Amino acid sequence: MRNLTINGERLWASLMELARIGATAKGGVCRLAASDLDGEARRLFIRWCEEAGCTVTIDKIGNIFARRPGRNPALPPVVTGSHLDTQPTGGRFDGAYGVMAGLELVRTLNDLGYETEAPIEIVAWTNEEGSRFSPAMVGSGAFTGVFELDTALATRDNNAPNLTLGGELERIGFAGPAPVGGRAVAAYFEAHIEQGPILEAAGLPIGIVTGAQGQRWYEITVRGQEAHAGPTPMPRRRDALVGAARMIDAVNKIGHAHAPYACATVGFVEVSPNSRNTIPGRVFLTVDFRHPEDAVLTAMDEELRDACAVAAATQKLDVDVKEFWYFPPTPFEPRLVGKVRDAAAAQGYPHQDIISGAGHDAVYMARVAPTAMIFVPCVGGISHNEIEDAKPEDLTAGCNVLLNAVLDTADSAG
Ligand SMILES: [Zn+2]
Repeated sequence: MRNLTINGERLWASLMELARIGATAKGGVCRLAASDLDGEARRLFIRWCEEAGCTVTIDKIGNIFARRPGRNPALPPVVTGSHLDTQPTGGRFDGAYGVMAGLELVRTLNDLGYETEAPIEIVAWTNEEGSRFSPAMVGSGAFTGVFELDTALATRDNNAPNLTLGGELERIGFAGPAPVGGRAVAAYFEAHIEQGPILEAAGLPIGIVTGAQGQRWYEITVRGQEAHAGPTPMPRRRDALVGAARMIDAVNKIGHAHAPYACATVGFVEVSPNSRNTIPGRVFLTVDFRHPEDAVLTAMDEELRDACAVAAATQKLDVDVKEFWYFPPTPFEPRLVGKVRDAAAAQGYPHQDIISGAGHDAVYMARVAPTAMIFVPCVGGISHNEIEDAKPEDLTAGCNVLLNAVLDTADSAG
């Protein structure tokens, strides 16, 4: 390990300048995928990459690759990055940190006149958040063959169904010419804020991410009978919302039953007709289950289906439980994880192993290339929130670890 260090002040300044694009009054960022603001952030990123001597390629789903050449152009690049899109009430660091850390790494190598053996690429993946266009992680998913390109491009805006991801990318000038996928990747590293409370509570600047939790996402539709809230006696009701409420409670209990690692969330509920004097005839809701072990996810799946069937039967309702997305637990590549650990040790940073509770582009990349992640703490463990915050010294530490892990990989390639 060479133990080089990045310029922490420059990293922070880049993050703060980027955060101005889509800045919210409460100090956060709203920069939805393929919006005008996303386009603006992308153009700033590209300008910075080109100023740093990188060659930029944009693929058909808008993923941006900025390449710094290596001594041996025949070698596949070591790739690092994350995403520039945010949640509607997102923060300044989720995604942005990984992309800006990649840029800072390249700028540092330029300052040092350091030539790596393999090329290095910084990547900004399209639509990681999945907020405006669902599902999440569509750019990396299309790149790794998880999603068909045409299907991904046809994804509709959740609030404006006449708009597609492909159309919006075209509109902001980021439906690129390059084919999606098929680029050789020697290794993929992603630095990210933890988005949870573990590192901060332990007082550690670095998390060595050994893998990601598995996830099961569901869409549940409960159907009863719309009826007038006045003349309809209680025993005759088929109230879809009452059934849904019992299902929501069951989801929470399932999460608690598989403590400490299980997470179980209902985050979206749609009641129709959503009128104060009409008994709800239909409820649509989503369920998000997470756990590092597949066997436990399977048990949670069975418990969910049982609970929904019981709640529906009790209230004389119909229920449809549809699995929307399944994501197996993903272990990262031990050799690459070891490089992250070595880099943290070489820099003298206290660290611990950690499992990622959130999905990341790295989780899809792990399907096609050796992959590892670096976590840094965020204040209060809060993310997907405008108050999301991180300490400059922790961001610097994570970027230093990234730099040395990437260098060690790029120089030992070939
Ligand atoms: Zn993110």
